[in-house]
Amino acid sequence: MNEKAFLIKYAEIGVKGRNRGVFEDALVRQIRHGLKRCEGEFLVHRTRGRIYVDVVSESYDYEETVDALQAVFGISAICPMKRTEDEGFEKLCRDVVDYVGEAWADRNITFKVYTRRARKDYPMESMEVSSAIGGVLLDAYPELRVDVHRPERMLHIEIREKIYLYSTEIPGPGGMPVGTNGKGMLLLSGGIDSPVAGWMIAKRGVKIDAVYFHAPPYTSDRAKQKVVDLAKRVARYSGPVWLHVVNFTDIQLYIYEKCPHEELTIIMRRYMMRIAEAIAQETECLGLITGESIGQVASQTMQSLAATDDACLMPVYRPLIGMDKREIIDLSEKIGTYETSILPYEDCCTIFVAKHPVTKPNLSVIKRHEHSLDEKIDELVKTALETRELIVADYEK
Ligand code: ATP
Ligand code: MG
Repeated sequence: MNEKAFLIKYAEIGVKGRNRGVFEDALVRQIRHGLKRCEGEFLVHRTRGRIYVDVVSESYDYEETVDALQAVFGISAICPMKRTEDEGFEKLCRDVVDYVGEAWADRNITFKVYTRRARKDYPMESMEVSSAIGGVLLDAYPELRVDVHRPERMLHIEIREKIYLYSTEIPGPGGMPVGTNGKGMLLLSGGIDSPVAGWMIAKRGVKIDAVYFHAPPYTSDRAKQKVVDLAKRVARYSGPVWLHVVNFTDIQLYIYEKCPHEELTIIMRRYMMRIAEAIAQETECLGLITGESIGQVASQTMQSLAATDDACLMPVYRPLIGMDKREIIDLSEKIGTYETSILPYEDCCTIFVAKHPVTKPNLSVIKRHEHSLDEKIDELVKTALETRELIVADYEK
């Protein structure tokens, strides 16, 4: 099929009143960014509340282009359009007959033609074009039937400088264009959950930075590479992710030495939140994002979440909070992070984990035990912050 343009439909951002322009610009920017990795040359432009992608180069890869557009948040549907030269009405009739012959494999259906004239000097009115073309199609394909109220297929004709035909809507990912809702700091581990959490928040228009707590030599370079790879997968949707890799070993060993082992995970999680918050403040992030879900593990009971939450002042977004593991896995498969997430790796949380971690931590007890860290912990946190490594993770096909 010879589609040389796409109409981009967007739902939510259409209703933003005066901010509409801002949202549309962001969407255009994200589409351009997404198409950069595709073969071919594209012109992305907005006119009269619509966004179009025109293929400028002779050749391009249709599948690859649709795939890239399906990763741009803010797009509700992608309509591949056939672009034809305006060389008179008879030529248009031939083009439409060809198009329907190619695009509608099953023609034993009802249809309706809808014409939109962006160029008012076109010699026929929109309604006139629609009914004339409807007649031409009925002649060419007698199995077709017209139904103007509930047609099974719509044939859209757009008359601009050139003429565009479309009748298919490929679903987009929905959501809002990344960059329209501030920035968040994702606590990204090598597991299944946190990349999905990042994806969900990015879907709401939030740009994502990430932090990973690495504990060499207890966690290997391979474990770190896995997190970098996950950040790259998320970047397919969110754009490049700035990943801060924090060396957590000394803090972990110190907690292990000073605190009751069954409280280790909770205290460790509290320090993760504190460090993530400090980086978030430095990098102008407006909240933290985690992959926690109520009751999934001991450190995610209501009591444990409350104890973790208490460690920082910033809002903590937990988009998976009410989801079952199965639902999270399905989503991770859909967005393409699952394969990477299930590779074997060591998690800094599991290495020092106690046989029977507390499941109902008492916050005042935890706080009291944290005081046994007073002597060195500030210095250790400072060092961890100062020695962190920054990796910019961008999507690779
Ligand atoms: P995930 O599948 O995302 O690893 P999990 O089910 O293993 O989650 P936990 O290990 O309890 O759950 O971690 C809960 C959340 O804490 C994670 O979703 C993640 O946001 C954050 N987290 C845990 N470990 C790390 C780490 N090493 N670096 C950064 N964030 C982490
Ligand atoms: Mg984990």
